[in-house]
Amino acid sequence: MPEVSCPRCKALCAYAPSNPYRPFCSERCKHLDWGAWANEAYRLEASPPDPDDEAAKHELGGLN
Ligand SMILES: [Zn+2]
Repeated sequence: MPEVSCPRCKALCAYAPSNPYRPFCSERCKHLDWGAWANEAYRLEASPPDPDDEAAKHELGGLN
């Protein structure tokens, strides 16, 4: 059975239909990695802070 290192924790896991989380070792590692990727993608697509946003105004006011 082929084995692969889990991209998340580097543990050896089966790269086979018996492992539904391949190439990850477990559901936990798969979700953690997907979460990190999704957060990164969200950040890249997020627009800069809206200047009319109340929180942004507060931050600018704090600098003066
Ligand atoms: Zn893992």
